[in-house]
Amino acid sequence: MKYENIRKTVLAAILEAVDQGLIHGTSGNIAMRDPKERDIVAITPSGISYTGMKPEDIAIVRMKEDGTNEWIDGPYKPSSEVPMHTAVMRARPDVGATVHTHSMFATIIAMGPNPELRPITPPQCEFTPVGIVPFTMPGSNDVADKVVKALGEKGRACLIKNHGMFSCGKDMKAAMHATIYTEEMAQTTYYAKILGTYEPMPEEADRKMKELIAADQAV
Ligand SMILES: [Zn+2]
Repeated sequence: MKYENIRKTVLAAILEAVDQGLIHGTSGNIAMRDPKERDIVAITPSGISYTGMKPEDIAIVRMKEDGTNEWIDGPYKPSSEVPMHTAVMRARPDVGATVHTHSMFATIIAMGPNPELRPITPPQCEFTPVGIVPFTMPGSNDVADKVVKALGEKGRACLIKNHGMFSCGKDMKAAMHATIYTEEMAQTTYYAKILGTYEPMPEEADRKMKELIAADQAV
């Protein structure tokens, strides 16, 4: 099997996301680029149940120089969101893996008039500010462009109105962390606001945590 390592990593990540309740049915998709052949991307296929999936079922796409993507291997068509994942990888050479979910709390927070997420616990500081993407048609180049813009040069996660969230990292572990902590941030924000106890971390503490995380000194 070609590109076995990235296929296995994508499959393990999607199964973990299903296990954690971040992805239901066939919604959501995960991609990873080959660490050596940087134009090669493994991505979950379109419309196929993730349970029982095998590594060879993961689609392989080549990001071509003209900006289009070519499906080069795998029995099933790549996810329809392939433009969103590859647009971020093209714009951000530091990004090795990307995750898109319709996870419940991120989707709820993304709907409101004030969808800002602020860190509630120290580990969440690594993933803020969380970008905001207005609704636009899924699978389109437009949503891909807007996600790239919302993430900017260093962003790790963004909310997409009436759709879900998108996150990224240098590798799959980092991208999954961004997904899990952003959903956690959305969930804690939701419950704290309902309970009337919403008090995110002070901005000064958030700034200091970001410095520690950047210096790799956070515990
Ligand atoms: Zn979606």
